[in-house]
Amino acid sequence: MKKIEHLGIAVKNLAQSINLYEKLLGVPCYKTETVESEGVTTAFFKTGENKIELLEAAHTESPIAKFIDKKGEGIHHVAFDVDDIYAEMKRLKNSGFQLLNEEPKRGADNKLVCFIHPKSAGGVLVELCQEIR
Ligand code: ZN
Repeated sequence: MKKIEHLGIAVKNLAQSINLYEKLLGVPCYKTETVESEGVTTAFFKTGENKIELLEAAHTESPIAKFIDKKGEGIHHVAFDVDDIYAEMKRLKNSGFQLLNEEPKRGADNKLVCFIHPKSAGGVLVELCQEIR
């Protein structure tokens, strides 16, 4: 794995949180995007080498709605940049990690993504992401 690509932060109200994070980070949100398959609306900020991704539930069955019900707003996942998502998925699976999807999915911000179950990763939801070229 290469650098941390972004941190995913679950929020209740995207518009309010964009305001808050623009003030906090001192940079404007450069993109918002809804990912229907994941039930989320996202907003991205560039912070140097890395990014912050805010995630709002797009509907009540969204995994983000469930996360906020259980834990409240806050850090939801850590995403790592990878060169070859298929190779990393295979490596992690062979090392006993539980993948949440068997095939890479199309995520926000032009990425192929795969999530690792937090139960197999020390309580942290880990995302692999590879830029779609
Ligand atoms: Zn993410």
